[in-house]
Amino acid sequence: MTEQDIARRVRQLQQELLHHGYLYYVLDAPEISDYEYDRLYRELLDWETQYPELVVPESPTQHVGGYAAQAFAKVAHTTPMLSLSNAFGMDEVRAFIKRAQDDLGQAVPAFVTELKIDGLAVNLVYEDGYLVRCVTRGDGRVGEDITANVKTIREIPWRLTDVPAHWEVRGEVYMPREAFAELNRERDEAGEPPFANCRNAAAGSLRQTDPKVTARRRLGFFAYALGTPADAGIRSQEELLQRLAADGFPVNPHHRLCRAVEDIDEQVRHWETARHDLAYDTDGMVIKINDFSLQEELGHTSKDPRWAIAYKYPPEQAVTRVERIVVTVGRTGVLTPSADLDPVWLAGTLVRRATLHNADYIAAKDVRVGDTVVVHKAGEIIPEIVKVCTERRSGAETVFVMPTVCPVCQSPAVRSEEAAYRCSNPHCPGVMRECLVHFASRNAMNIDGLGPSVVDHLLAAELVSDPADYYDLTPEMLQSLPLFGAKRAQNLVTAIQASRTRGLGRVLFALGIRFVGAKAAQLVAEAYPTMPALLQASEEELKAIEGIGEKTAGALYAYLHLPETGVLLQRLEAAGVDLTQSVMRPTGGVFAGERVVLTGKLEQYTRNEAKARIESEGGTVLSAISKNVTLVIAGAEAGSKLAKAQKLGIAIWSEQELQAALNGDENAADNSGVL
Ligand code: NAD
Repeated sequence: MTEQDIARRVRQLQQELLHHGYLYYVLDAPEISDYEYDRLYRELLDWETQYPELVVPESPTQHVGGYAAQAFAKVAHTTPMLSLSNAFGMDEVRAFIKRAQDDLGQAVPAFVTELKIDGLAVNLVYEDGYLVRCVTRGDGRVGEDITANVKTIREIPWRLTDVPAHWEVRGEVYMPREAFAELNRERDEAGEPPFANCRNAAAGSLRQTDPKVTARRRLGFFAYALGTPADAGIRSQEELLQRLAADGFPVNPHHRLCRAVEDIDEQVRHWETARHDLAYDTDGMVIKINDFSLQEELGHTSKDPRWAIAYKYPPEQAVTRVERIVVTVGRTGVLTPSADLDPVWLAGTLVRRATLHNADYIAAKDVRVGDTVVVHKAGEIIPEIVKVCTERRSGAETVFVMPTVCPVCQSPAVRSEEAAYRCSNPHCPGVMRECLVHFASRNAMNIDGLGPSVVDHLLAAELVSDPADYYDLTPEMLQSLPLFGAKRAQNLVTAIQASRTRGLGRVLFALGIRFVGAKAAQLVAEAYPTMPALLQASEEELKAIEGIGEKTAGALYAYLHLPETGVLLQRLEAAGVDLTQSVMRPTGGVFAGERVVLTGKLEQYTRNEAKARIESEGGTVLSAISKNVTLVIAGAEAGSKLAKAQKLGIAIWSEQELQAALNGDENAADNSGVL
């Protein structure tokens, strides 16, 4: 690989991981397994260690990977809530111990091993002994105030005696497996999509705007840390756990004091299998240096403490048999094969199906009907086939052939530019069903009670054929279906009507446009916050939105300008669906309303700093020059962008003028002019 290739790969990994972090931390809806995420993260870390000049402040390796969502008040933590660095084997644990001992210049006398509970970290703030605030980890510095929700967890004490006036306790909120299974059963019955795993269910339950919903979710808590640096006479992790238990907090009982690496190894090995019998999910073990004075001496990086490490277990695997290979059609028309398996227990759930992605994947893995296969499920998402046990073939297995027609409408399936086959019928009922399901789904218009089975009934009764039809549904129409009594019919209509206020970003995502994921839709809506503005934007201008790639811009532009899209949008608007976006950016800043392009080398700021500062002052930063741009900041050696801006007569500022404006020099804008 050339250095250029490496730099490109690093940037790609950074962006990909940030994207998956957003899906995981903000939407509670990851698209890849933790195992896959950790693999990509490790690759990035390795490259960045070898080429430190490629490390940028926004790299996922440089900060705690969460966000504080807008829906909750933000609270700054008194001390940062950190993540943990990972070890994937005992060698890495040994290396961690050696590093710590080298830094300390002495041997570490003892460690504490704890189970790594797969939940969500929270900080509990007690003032004069009363629980006054509960905050999520957020980005590590600022979290979300979820006090009302956490207070519904019965085992968390509201009142402590004998603690300092200001006292902060940290721990993990989790959802026990049984509660998780029950919740998913209920969601299934209500036609809602299931949560992928206990962690996502716990996170989704805690970040509810209605605490009554959280209260019904049967969450648990384990305390394991303090958030206050206050000296309460506690000298070690072991003492702390005893103290927390004495104060009435639930403390996980499976912690051990280990004096040698062999003891740690024994614990790690024991829990690798024993953890499956626990009532809650764990995704590893945490190994902590016991002595607080040593912890303090080692300190932390911007992301992880140097005195602790998480041992991550590999994803669980099971052996089963491929009964048949079935093909379904998705909302973009792609035909996706998956394997129907002989049901097998894996990571706490009964697995019946594994994804096979596409025909190339099946061919590469040589998966045949009747094969014995090893499946894994890293605690979440759809299980995958790790390998085929070819040695167990009897000869009766059959090779799968991708169908040449759509399984729903029988139209010809065509192979597209990727490995995918697509249904060629633009009005395929299978595609429409998936679009309708997607439109109502949680991260799209979030319509409670409108899951796949309800959509099937509505389609069968011919009550809907596109998303705008949802808004014409009345309780009477719904009651004509066997599924609906008066109350459920009214509730669904209310939920549908309530979804009208989600805003343009959600609508764009809900429409299921190819390549337009939740984040891209949000970025587009923020750049063009009304539908008329968006419809006027050229493909070039869409491409110029920071974070929007060529493919996405092309697909979005084409979709928006289809005649049938126009009709659909008009019907949605007529139904009262809000097709505008309230942009979170400050409106009164120096750059309010400005569309800015940065070009050339900046000396006082990195690109990202300049971008963040301009955005925090209400501006939008674009990457390409177009007539839509209102201001160009030209650093040293600016080239073709500057020339193009001059030709278009766009205002051009030097870096000094940018600096003056950001520093509050009110005359800055008046000084601007063509360089
Ligand atoms: P982490 O989950 O690997 O470790 C830190 C967290 O462990 C702490 O914040 C705390 O919440 C928790 N924890 C549980 N028990 C603990 C104990 N006894 N002591 C101390 N802490 C304990 O780190 P993270 O930053 O929260 O998340 C990163 C991980 O999340 C990744 O390694 C990956 O597995 C997963 N992730 C997955 C995706 C995805 O798309 N699947 C995306 C982002 C992150």
